Parts: sequence; C-alpha cells; structure tokens
Amino acid sequence: AMFDSLSSSIQKAQRLIGKSGTLTKENMKDPLKEVRRALLEADVSLPVVRRFIKKVEERALGTKVLDGVTPDTQFIKTVLDGVTPDTQFIKTVSNELIDLMGGGVGAKDLEPGFPQIILMAGLQGVGKTTAAGKLALYLKKSKKSCLLVATDVYRPAAIDQLVKLGAAIDVPVFEMGTQVDPVEIAKKGVEEGRRLGVDAVIIDTAGRLQVDEDMMGELRSMKAALRPSDTLLVVDAMTGQEAANLVKAFNDQVDISGAILTKMDGDSRGGAALSVREVSGKPIKFVGVGEKMEALEPFYPERMASRILGMGDVLTLYERAESAIKEEDAKRTVERMMEEKFDFNDFMAQWKTMNNMGGLQMLKMMPGFNKISEKQLYEAEKTFEMYEAVIKAMEEEERSDPELLVKSMARRRRVAQASGRSEADVAKLMGAYTAMKSQMGGMSKLLKLQKAGADPS
Ligand code: GDP
Repeated sequence: AMFDSLSSSIQKAQRLIGKSGTLTKENMKDPLKEVRRALLEADVSLPVVRRFIKKVEERALGTKVLDGVTPDTQFIKTVLDGVTPDTQFIKTVSNELIDLMGGGVGAKDLEPGFPQIILMAGLQGVGKTTAAGKLALYLKKSKKSCLLVATDVYRPAAIDQLVKLGAAIDVPVFEMGTQVDPVEIAKKGVEEGRRLGVDAVIIDTAGRLQVDEDMMGELRSMKAALRPSDTLLVVDAMTGQEAANLVKAFNDQVDISGAILTKMDGDSRGGAALSVREVSGKPIKFVGVGEKMEALEPFYPERMASRILGMGDVLTLYERAESAIKEEDAKRTVERMMEEKFDFNDFMAQWKTMNNMGGLQMLKMMPGFNKISEKQLYEAEKTFEMYEAVIKAMEEEERSDPELLVKSMARRRRVAQASGRSEADVAKLMGAYTAMKSQMGGMSKLLKLQKAGADPS
C-alpha cells in the first residue's frame, strides 16, 4: 500500500515536472511528503527522517528530468508495477538512502587482525548469541577458523546455548562457567584462540534488558583489555524508532565498529538500518534473516533502500527491463496492444521477455511478491514449460489465431497429442491466454488514455 501511494504521488509529480522538465521545491512537495510517510512507517526515527528529506530536496533541486517517457518504457513500467514512477525523483531518494546506509566500499568488511577479535555487544534477546554462531559459520565458510567465547556469567543458559550452537556448526567454544570474571574469561579466550592458531575469536557478551551502566562498563573493560578488531552491536530490526537511541548509547559509550541487524526476515521495514548509520556513522556489516545458522548475509544497502521505500527491488527490475527488452519488441507489443491484438506469439514473446529479465525469479523482487515461496516459483516455471511445449505443437495459423483452438475441440485434442501433454494442460493454457488477453485489453485502454494526455485514473 505504501508503494501504491508513493507511486501515485510520484505520478502526480511527474505530470507537474513534465511541464518544466526540472525538479522544483513546488513539484517535489507532495512526493516528498509521501517519502516522509514511507520512512516513518518504516520506523525510521523522526529526526533522521527530517535530515534525510532535507538532503534529498537539496540534491534534487534543479535536477533536470531525464528524457521524457517513451511509449516502450512507459509500457514496461506499466506492466511491471501498474504505475509510472518518475525514475529521476525516485532514484534520487533511493540513492540518498543507499549513500546514507552504504558508505565507502569495503566499509562493511570485518577489520583485519591476527587473530581477528570480534566483540559482540547488544541488549538481551536481540539475537546476539545466535549472531555469534552465525558469524562463526560465515567465517568458516570463507575458510577461516574460529573460536567462540562465552562470557555471559549471569545467565548459565546463555553459555549452554553458545556451547550447543558451537557443536552444531562444529566450532570450538571456550567457557569457564559462571564463577569467573567475564573480562578474565574473554582474555583467557583470546589466549586460547592464539594457542589454537584460529583466524578469529568471537566473544559473546552479556546483554541486559535495557541500556545499563554495568553492561557498558563491562564492555569498556573488555575493549580495553582485548583491543578487539571489531566491536559489533547487534540490533533487532523490529526495535523500530528506539534503535536510534540504542545505537547512539552504545556508540557513545563503547565506540562500536559496526552493527549486525537481526530479524530482517520479520515484518520490519528496516528503518533501523537507516538510523544506525545516521546516528553513529558506523556501517551495518551483516543482516540476520532467520533463526538458522546459515541465515546471515552481508549488508546490501540497495536492497535495504528498496525495502524501506516498500518497493521490492523495483528499481533493479526496472533497469533490467530496460536492457532486456529490445526496443523493436517493445514497440511491436505496444502497437499490437493498441490494436487490441494478442495471440499465442505475443504470449510467448511476453514470456521470453520475462525470461530475459531473470525468469520468474524476478517476481520475487516485485512489490507484494517478496514472500513467494521457492515451491510456488518452481510450480510456475513448470507451468510455463508446459505452455511453451503446447504452443510449439500448434500450427502457425493456430498460433496467430487462437480463436481456431477456442472453437475446435478436435484441434485442441490434436495439439495435446502433438505436444505430449494432456487436454487439461491445453485447456489451462487457453485459460491463461484469455486472462492475459483481457489484461492487455485493459492496459491498452490505459495507454490510449495516456497518449491522449488524459488522466488515467
Ligand atoms: P541474545 O539474548 O541476544 O543472545 O538472543 P538470542 O541469540 O538468544 O536470540 C533470541 C531469539 O531470537 C532466539 O529465539 C533466536 O532464534 C531469535 N533470532 C535471532 N536472530 C534471528 C533472526 O535473524 N531472525 C529470526 N527470525 N529470529 C532470530
């Protein structure tokens, strides 16, 4: 819904912008309002939003809008998302977000060290212990050996948890029970790591329910004693607006080197990601996307920007569409659509275009489709393979005049036999064809209206 309202307001802006060809304070006012709302809904904190909007405005002001919308790109956009976002404006917003979160290349790599010493900090329940295990597995996969160190002497369960995680991923865990000072355990852990000759020592620390002085004091002592290469703050993406204060507190008191944003597989829009960088100047290095040990990914600012704006990966998709679709093909499709002609050749052409853009996998990047499962994708791919086989088995006249098949049972039966598929399969294709044709009919009316300069809504 966010995407819809953002898009429609951008569409409105596009008409205004179109006349002057330039982005002005006036014609950006409404779309910026929508962006502001998108960010607030994504749980970006208000001061961060304010500064962000101001930046976008400054950067976008006076920007010349790139080439006007041509029928073919118009078509692609219409097909892809049912709207016509003004790419210039949305790109500025998106780039600004990426800038804000991304920083320089390599900023999100772990710092070197011999061994690397990685201190994990964060409140209780954010996924810190899980993240320690995930990070160990991640490093292990890149051929680095690790030692995990358990220092949460206040919660024996936390030590057990780390020991179990270590066993599951086959990484050694160093612990000294609950009767030894945590800083002492950490020091001994690093010594053990050196003795074992591991590449990285990952230290899980005690969290608290809230920011408190004991916890911060302990982290500071550990930092002073170990001089870790990285101090990673683990932040729960579901924290929302509160994330900004949290990150600030940790960064002010223990000077973190970066963050791991967990639970990004949840419903959160990821606004916390924006806050982390804005408030601390430190990069997000990884995101946690599930409970399993494998569910850790390096941080991709582009993906996060799209997620925050609620657009799936529309921009990537859009760019791919532009390069995947040959101009003539697109023109032909548009012309055919305007004539309200649509046969099996068109049906296949549409399907090939989709394939060029990355097949059905691209569906995953579209708004509303993020949650499509691998199984659904697989089934959809199988279905289209079947369509292709059936269409190939048709005679040329049937391909260009689907009515022949609609009318004749005998033809459908022959095509089924020739393709080695069932009559039910042929019926399914006929149904899909009819549905797509009627969609195209609707689209063609929309395009005609737009061509006439009328308001499509
Ligand atoms: P800690 O108290 O910070 O050490 O938190 P834990 O590592 O014990 O994690 C708390 C809960 O969050 C556990 O149930 C984890 O399985 C879960 N968790 C951790 N990371 C993620 C994640 O990225 N996604 C999801 N869905 N759950 C997570």
